[in-house]
Amino acid sequence: MIIDLRSDTVTKPTEGMMDAIMQARTGDDVFKEDPTANELEQRFCDLFGMDYALFFPTGTMANQAAIKLHTQPGDQIICDTWSHIFNYEAGGAAFNSGVSCKLIDGHRGMITAEQVERSINPPDFYHSPLTKLVELENTTNKGGGACYDLNEIKRIKKVCDTHGLSFHLDGARLMNALVAKGEDPKDYGSIFDTISVCLSKGLGTPLGTVLMGNKEIMEKSIRIRKIFGGGMRQIGFMAAAGIYALDHHVDRMKEDHQRASEIASILKGLDFIHEVEPTETNIVIFYLIDGIPENRFMNDLSNKNIRISSMGEGKLRIVTHLDYTSEMHDRFREVLTQYSP
Ligand SMILES: *Cc1c(COP(=O)(O)O)cnc(C)c1O
Repeated sequence: MIIDLRSDTVTKPTEGMMDAIMQARTGDDVFKEDPTANELEQRFCDLFGMDYALFFPTGTMANQAAIKLHTQPGDQIICDTWSHIFNYEAGGAAFNSGVSCKLIDGHRGMITAEQVERSINPPDFYHSPLTKLVELENTTNKGGGACYDLNEIKRIKKVCDTHGLSFHLDGARLMNALVAKGEDPKDYGSIFDTISVCLSKGLGTPLGTVLMGNKEIMEKSIRIRKIFGGGMRQIGFMAAAGIYALDHHVDRMKEDHQRASEIASILKGLDFIHEVEPTETNIVIFYLIDGIPENRFMNDLSNKNIRISSMGEGKLRIVTHLDYTSEMHDRFREVLTQYSP
């Protein structure tokens, strides 16, 4: 039994999802003739109350397309220092869109309306880049699965409106936030200009991300997806997995959150753990005490067939998911409590 807690992307399709994939009706999506892809996109539109959605192969590509939609070369994006678009998209914002990022030191990956307001360059001061886009992440990845307060998002939206800025949400794990906080997806749909939601994280599909927005903004998205090389053909097989996930894998995220919080409480009681960050969803971030090298700890776990990941700067990360069973949970808790460094 291998217990893989490195990411919620390691899941394999369940039997039910495999059946849905096998039975999918498909067509050529580049002609917009794949009925299952069209259905998935419509499902997301209905869920979020937005009027255009487009299937992308990856979350990175969907975020990059959103940046392209909202900016011109030379413009600037406001985002958190820890944001995925800045840290984990291979410099794509600069490469694909020719834009720079104004980084804000937020709290657990989350920024405030005041911080955004202070970071906007005066549009008539031609020496500085033109601020065009504000980007948030919910839940935050490097911030340990933290969830924004919806009121703060509304306050940031007000700043965006006052200054004519576009507003994009990297919602790779937005479904986790919605489940954890019991929020209505339509609230998000009414605030953001564009939202990306990954199907391949907690939702457990092999691949895919949906980018949503309103028609006027999204009009160019299909061309941008093509330019980025992401126009695909019979993607109904993967869209079927996404529809199956919406029907079967959303509410169950509670289980992932519960297990993550149980792991966090155990870690808090162990004397070789220095700190455990607040755990709100399916990500647990923690630090070892001085003198215990992270590599040694990770290797010791690995020898017991347990995999976790390091995010640098002493951060260790555990992510619970669909394929992390109660049997694995029992075993992992046992290994942790018996561990002596
Ligand atoms: C995983 C993730 C993405 C997208 O990553 P892909 O691997 O390209 O699908 C984007 N943003 C965040 C916060 C993520 O965690």
